[in-house]
Amino acid sequence: MKIATLNRGKETKYLNQYPLIDEEDIYQHDHLKEGDLVKIVTDQQQYIATGYVGRQHKGLGWVLSYDENEDINTQFFVKLFESALEEREYYFNIDGTNAFRLFNAEGDGVGGLTIDNYDSHLLIQWYSKGIYKFRYLIIEAIKTVFGYTSLYEKMRFKDTTYTGGFVDGKAPEFPITIEENFTFYNVDLEDGLMTGIFLDQKEVRKKLRDQFSEDRDVLNLFSYTGAFSVIAAQNARSTTSVDLANRSRGLTEENFGLNGIDPKSQYIYVMDTFDYYNYAARHGLQYETVVIDPPSFARNKKKTFSVQKDYGSLVKGALSVLAPEGSLLLCINSSAFSLKAFKNVIKKTLDEEGVEFEIREVMGLPKDFKTHPHYKPSKYLKAVFIDIKH
Ligand code: SAH
Repeated sequence: MKIATLNRGKETKYLNQYPLIDEEDIYQHDHLKEGDLVKIVTDQQQYIATGYVGRQHKGLGWVLSYDENEDINTQFFVKLFESALEEREYYFNIDGTNAFRLFNAEGDGVGGLTIDNYDSHLLIQWYSKGIYKFRYLIIEAIKTVFGYTSLYEKMRFKDTTYTGGFVDGKAPEFPITIEENFTFYNVDLEDGLMTGIFLDQKEVRKKLRDQFSEDRDVLNLFSYTGAFSVIAAQNARSTTSVDLANRSRGLTEENFGLNGIDPKSQYIYVMDTFDYYNYAARHGLQYETVVIDPPSFARNKKKTFSVQKDYGSLVKGALSVLAPEGSLLLCINSSAFSLKAFKNVIKKTLDEEGVEFEIREVMGLPKDFKTHPHYKPSKYLKAVFIDIKH
């Protein structure tokens, strides 16, 4: 097996089970290729962990085991999948939900690999060339542990022309309809990087419906397939969905239809969020709840958008369309943006605007998106509900 030697003083970090192998912590290593297994040793040649090479973010790869004698074979993955499955028992047993994450990367013991369950259609996501080298072993282990109707994969790394597709089982006709908190959504596992729904937001969606929608006009910005709108519409006076992408309209209408809501009774705009702020202001439109769940980064004809640079202006714009007493749901999906930094941006913006506000709820990932206790970036999702008077 290949060897990577740590810089002196870095052992404690890895002995404390930090799972990402930081390139800068390595003093020297053998020639390493994607998918190589590597022993992490101290400068005294003492064994610490076994990892694999899969370059992602700033990492060289991920730790897989702390047992020098453990073989990384099908059985290794079988054991991890079995314990992941056991921890998801809750989701298999509840009513009204049949889609959730089965295996969440480093949180479940293998960085760079996730497996989602969409009503027994499974989706594997490979986040590096390195983890993809274990494809055969991992698929064998999936077959052993998880029952499924069909199995799909998506490549989440660059330098591949193949982007994913059908792997095994009985292919359904897409879209399929999944259920989450008694709400129905269409999902397509063969259509680009996104599937139609972000499963990590399920509790946030539920909270929006149960506590921030009743008798309100709800504005959902960056609405994609309208998941927040569709669940809010069960209690709201009206919903308005805004997304720049043309295709969002049809997908959103279909999701309303699945839930017995006439899409014509709701508002859908294919528009840039900032343009919509102007449009709404011109037309005197106001909302009691505004949802902002943007991509971390986006480019359109006119400009680039990034949450780091633009979140303040998004919040300011939202205030211009918020009723005198209303709520904001602000989300970010970024490891690079900590909860503390996010709260600071929110507070600074609201203070500058001189509004009275109270943070009602701060939410993160649901239980199925199991995180790693010693790796903070795995908690990438932050969602904050705020009541505002202005
Ligand atoms: N909030 C969504 C997920 C958002 S995905 C959900 O709950 O499922 C990001 C979406 O932002 C994409 O659909 C993309 O088309 C849209 N988008 C990107 N830039 C935009 C902009 N400037 N204005 C409006 N929508 C934008």
